[in-house]
Amino acid sequence: MHARAASVDDDSDDDRFHDQCGVFGIYGHTEAANLTYLGLHALQHRGQESAGIVTSDGRQLFAHRAMGLVQDAFKQEQLERLPGRIAIGHVRYSTSGGSHIKNAQPIAVDYARGSLAVCHNGNLTNAEEIRAELEQKGSIFQSDSDTEVLVHLVAASTQVSIEDRIGEALAKVQGAYSLLFLTEDTIIAVRDPMGIRPLCLGLLPSSKEAHVVASEPTAFDLIGAEYVRDVEPGEMLVIDGSGIRSMRPLEPKPQRMCVFEYVYFARPDSRIQGKSVYEVRRALGTALAKEHPVDADVVIPVPDSGVPSGIGYASERKIPFEMGLIRSHYVGRTFIEPQQSIRHFGVRLKLNPVEPVLRGKRVVVIDDSIVRGTTSRKIVKMVRDAGAREVHLRISSPPTQWPCYYGIDTPTRRELIASSHSVDEIARYVTADTLGYLSLEGMLRSVSGNDAGGPQSFCHACFSGQYAIPFTPTSRRPDAPRGRLATQRQVDGSSVLHTAFVHVARSRHFGPFVSSQAARPRRRRGRWRSLGSRRACTSRSRRSRCTRR
Ligand code: SF4
Repeated sequence: MHARAASVDDDSDDDRFHDQCGVFGIYGHTEAANLTYLGLHALQHRGQESAGIVTSDGRQLFAHRAMGLVQDAFKQEQLERLPGRIAIGHVRYSTSGGSHIKNAQPIAVDYARGSLAVCHNGNLTNAEEIRAELEQKGSIFQSDSDTEVLVHLVAASTQVSIEDRIGEALAKVQGAYSLLFLTEDTIIAVRDPMGIRPLCLGLLPSSKEAHVVASEPTAFDLIGAEYVRDVEPGEMLVIDGSGIRSMRPLEPKPQRMCVFEYVYFARPDSRIQGKSVYEVRRALGTALAKEHPVDADVVIPVPDSGVPSGIGYASERKIPFEMGLIRSHYVGRTFIEPQQSIRHFGVRLKLNPVEPVLRGKRVVVIDDSIVRGTTSRKIVKMVRDAGAREVHLRISSPPTQWPCYYGIDTPTRRELIASSHSVDEIARYVTADTLGYLSLEGMLRSVSGNDAGGPQSFCHACFSGQYAIPFTPTSRRPDAPRGRLATQRQVDGSSVLHTAFVHVARSRHFGPFVSSQAARPRRRRGRWRSLGSRRACTSRSRRSRCTRR
């Protein structure tokens, strides 16, 4: 989805790459909604803006979507209104201004052949062109979501079976996707041909019929499900009353798993492609210590993602590892517009130094990445203010110089400090005594280990600029007709927005369509703020067309 808003602060929330969502699905369990709730709870780190669940009782779909964390979006009464043995769910990443229920997923629709719900982790890179074509033919969209484009394509397909309709739709799109579709009696899970975003399959041993799919296997741990395997790149799993079928509707392509999942996005207790994220991060720290050694008294991580790399660095260098920064786990997003005098509270709210660990010491600070540099600068100052004699910053990934177009929330290239500053300049900006990044080769070697695919099986475009999938980061044509569906339908008491297909068939249930140019929110002007000696635009509307779900 394209709706994004200007950052109001340089706090640590915005000075990070952010994954945009997590998906979870379960087939064949009497408590499908409750288990999906728990699965989404375990995937909360992949998105905190909104959460949604759609279930099926075999005859019809039931949906609830709401803003906020999973625990806020769902109370017991809402879960009780989601009957059935099949469910899919979604969590979505938050920004301060792009939050709206219309962007929440799963998208649930009725079309000529029944009901369909879909949730998506990733980004379709040619969605703009397809959308323009569909709009020319009369389709009306309710949001800026690229996922909605996919729904229109499925509905417009001339194929008969749902798996063939989805296959035909996917043949027209490009990009990164892990998708879950739900019909009245089937779940279909699909991963893009390059396997950029993760998706895995599990089984609940207490109920041999209950198959589960999720972005990360940590979602299985919480509900007692066993990890079976990763869904393979380009694979479609059809799960219905006759079991589970594997199909290959798309041409195979070279695998390009997102390397940033290992660096930062995934939970350290996850396994991605069968590899422990914790162990990979520790190996990144070890490689970093070999490439950028420094004499120091203590190694401290920026919690939480810097912890395993910090342990690897300290162990390799035989320097004591300490928790010199403590992270508060009870801080949500702050919506205050701080005055300059209290602007640094954004980072202070989350991190606090442990003075006895730092005072008088030569400190190595391990972090996973530097995006704009603003947070790193505040962390270095925080450590120095706590009495550190020297502060050496070490980053367990290469300089992030390029935006992501494959489903990750990133600033524009211009805002990425490493795109226009040398390592020495960045070190001066963040006021570190020394700064060292892990090399691209060192990162890929550490992540790939003994993989058959080797380093070339990973996407590393945000570090190297080598994009594996073509994209057109263009705006939509200004003259494109823009429709907006203002109808809400009550599904079993839960409010859910629906997409309409004027080119296919009028829905069985929808009321009148309302198309209004005025209904489209106006884009906000960008604010300009200082970034070292350069200036950078903070307007999300001027950023790359990195769409989000
Ligand atoms: S560009 Fe970076 S964040 Fe995006 S998919 Fe590739 S490795 Fe992951």
